Amino acid sequence: MTQPQTQIKEPSFRESVDIMFNRAVKLLDLPAGLEEKIRVCNSTYTVRFGVRLRGEIKTFTGYRSVHSEHMEPVKGGIRYATGVNQDEVEALAALMTYKCSLVEAPFGGSKGGLCIDPREYEEHELELITRRFAYELVKRDLINPAQNVPAPDMGTSGREMAWIADQYQRMNTTDINGKACVTGKPLNAGGIAGRVEATGRGVQYALREFFRYPEDVAMTSLSGGLAGKRVVVQGLGNVGYHAAKFLQEEDNCVITGIIERDGAIVNEAGLDVEAVFAWIGENGGVKGFPGAEYFENGASVLENDCDILVPAALEGVINLSNAANIKAPLIIEAANGPVTSGADDILREKGAVIIPDMYANAGGVTVSYFEWVKNLSHIRFGRMQRRQEEARNSLVIEQLEELSNAMGDTWSLGDTFKEKYLQGAGELELVRSGLDDTMRSAYQSMRKVWHERSDVPDLRMAAYYVAIDKVAESYRAKGL
Ligand code: NAD
Repeated sequence: MTQPQTQIKEPSFRESVDIMFNRAVKLLDLPAGLEEKIRVCNSTYTVRFGVRLRGEIKTFTGYRSVHSEHMEPVKGGIRYATGVNQDEVEALAALMTYKCSLVEAPFGGSKGGLCIDPREYEEHELELITRRFAYELVKRDLINPAQNVPAPDMGTSGREMAWIADQYQRMNTTDINGKACVTGKPLNAGGIAGRVEATGRGVQYALREFFRYPEDVAMTSLSGGLAGKRVVVQGLGNVGYHAAKFLQEEDNCVITGIIERDGAIVNEAGLDVEAVFAWIGENGGVKGFPGAEYFENGASVLENDCDILVPAALEGVINLSNAANIKAPLIIEAANGPVTSGADDILREKGAVIIPDMYANAGGVTVSYFEWVKNLSHIRFGRMQRRQEEARNSLVIEQLEELSNAMGDTWSLGDTFKEKYLQGAGELELVRSGLDDTMRSAYQSMRKVWHERSDVPDLRMAAYYVAIDKVAESYRAKGL
């Protein structure tokens, strides 16, 4: 039974990140000064601004935190939620530094947030608020294509990013690279194909890569591939919805539980992710979804028996109050910081394997990197090569068919093969290939450390180890 959290002392989110950092950094033998330089958050800007709404002036509080500028621009999403606070934004900014380093996206770490429940406002009101928030950040270069590039996070999407890009461009009319001031924009506002689903797609690619190594899978009590694995997902938002959808449709996983704000639904035979997503859109929650059992205490379903648990909503949901009851042998942290440092210890002792947030949800920043490069190069990926590639492939096929005719053979290439082979890669195919490659390489770098070093107990420590080592390398190269 889950105990009330108030009775148990947990470190804050930022303290949790620091605890994990401190554990990993001990293994690296860095000079104490450099350790401290990497750990601390360089700066956090707090802004309070007023917007006239519904006949009165409402004051909002927002943050933009820069954790590390060892590479610029710094990168990190902007979150809209009532719980946003300085501690959370700084923890998320630190995670961004390590995440970018791990997946070799050439950015420092940053994060922003606005204390607001976006569901309480009309679209035009949100636009006013977002533009005003962006104005405050742009005028201090806390949004800038060369210095600080936000992206969507909880409570924000392409819509807010398009407003921010437009606001920046209005304030910097001669900046030819203005669109690169923010990523995660809609395609028609300078975005890139595949960004909306990138974080969820990255979660899928991370799991596929994990299941390519039977010895890693054996560290859980699981065996075989992804097909048929029973999955519980918390949060059917951008990340959770796409991860669950792809795992169900493309990897034949069975989604047995979905946890949302208003409770959870369970069906051991499998829930149709698309149908649940549509139901939430129409009804505002999962309650009443036909053919599933409803639990008002949604968090209790985190403790259900399943093969893979995907927390994809918010931080701290697996903590000292429920960690001992978690049954999933494999947890993939699609959200940032869903497992507290105390819970991490308990789960490790129980033998659960955790694929850490810094790696698991890095698909978003990876494709954001591609979008930023696209904006700076002012051309869609694949535009120059696609037809040329098709023409070359077509030559090969024609030649093979001519040869076969000349030799009097009766064989021919299948139509499906021809169709697939002939097709040149467009932007979406290139983005998926780059994302897959990134997720595979980053996993390989983590597992190498995990398996080779006896003092690295789990994937999280391995991820921190690889990431901090690279950040330290950049600082050293700068002469620090
Ligand atoms: P989102 O706002 O699109 O979705 C969040 C979902 O969680 C919503 O469906 C919401 O109803 C649900 N939720 C909120 N509180 C809940 C609760 N108490 N219990 C169950 N469900 C709850 O946000 P998102 O962009 O999908 O982000 C989710 C997590 O992933 C965050 O931790 C975020 O930092 C992280 N993340 C997001 C991205 C991205 O590209 N969007 C990238 C990396 C990491």
